[in-house]
Amino acid sequence: MKKHNFSAGPCILPQEVLKKAADAVLNFNNLNLSLIEISHRSKDFVDVMENARSLVKELLNLPEGYSVLFLQGGASLEFLMTPYNLLKVNGKAGYMNTGTWSTAAIKEAKMMGEINVFASSEDKGFNYIPKNYTVPTDVDYIHCTSNNTIYGTQLKTFPKTDSLLVCDMSSDIFSRQLDFTQFDLIYAGAQKNMGPAGTTLVVVKDEILGKTGRTIPSMLDYQVHIKKDSMYNTPAVFPVYVSMLTLQWLKDLGGISAIEKINEEKAALLYAEIDRNPHFVGYAAKEDRSLMNVTFNLTNESDKEAFDKIWNEAGISGIKGHRSVGGYRASMYNALPLESVKVLIKAMQQLEK
Ligand SMILES: *Cc1c(COP(=O)(O)O)cnc(C)c1O
Repeated sequence: MKKHNFSAGPCILPQEVLKKAADAVLNFNNLNLSLIEISHRSKDFVDVMENARSLVKELLNLPEGYSVLFLQGGASLEFLMTPYNLLKVNGKAGYMNTGTWSTAAIKEAKMMGEINVFASSEDKGFNYIPKNYTVPTDVDYIHCTSNNTIYGTQLKTFPKTDSLLVCDMSSDIFSRQLDFTQFDLIYAGAQKNMGPAGTTLVVVKDEILGKTGRTIPSMLDYQVHIKKDSMYNTPAVFPVYVSMLTLQWLKDLGGISAIEKINEEKAALLYAEIDRNPHFVGYAAKEDRSLMNVTFNLTNESDKEAFDKIWNEAGISGIKGHRSVGGYRASMYNALPLESVKVLIKAMQQLEK
């Protein structure tokens, strides 16, 4: 039987998507060829790329004027591509620091210009989202991270700014309804909520590009990738295909509004147990809790051996906390069934007994 997979990333994908992907690796579109041994310029694959890009636009409800790209290099390369493409020569950018990934984004951006970290929750181990900050106005763009995968916090509202707004949505894209037009650039590594590792989704408003006054190397230039319909060089064919299948699965399910209800139900159940069960304590501030990554600790470390045995025997996998936080982290991405959450809750109740 398949395990209850709470892995933070790469993470669980819908079982039917994995089956279709496995079939395509052996025989794609009845071509009697594998998906991964045909030209990316063949009509069959160009259709995959086009379908994946249009599903993103449809699910995010994007108007004209946005481009969708499937790039490589992970979200981590976007930490650098963002300033390359948006930070003017001698320009400034404002960053919100809400965790390890924001910190990494800030480090890369600092190589390109002056960075103003206008809000940070580092003082309390990133267990909350800063609230009463002043958004700088003398900047080319503002950068935030919508969901902090490691600490289990999530932005419920986004900085209000007249500058461009950039968001790293790696770990909660397609999980909740937002007005996606408030963002000028969104990026997300596929492996948290969309597909296998190896491709990164970038959604960018066309009109913001080409204004920095700097020369951008081709592979780092969004305009180069847009002009070539995300096929400037060989794309990550398998990750793009599996992402397309996952996006189609989400659309068939009823889109983001449908999955959001399920995600809220899963999170409500698990947080209720954490708050009720005296053996556990949540890590993140209650009002900032993530629907995707639920972080919690044992009240008494001496229960560790017993609890680890219980959840292992229940067929649970991937709930060990990140090495920088410790404790436990249950990641409940779109494809995680409600049933798996119930099994985890039962394991927590078994410890209590
Ligand atoms: C995992 C993660 C990253 C890093 O993604 P890579 O694809 O491994 O580079 C960046 N930001 C967030 C929010 C993440 O969860």
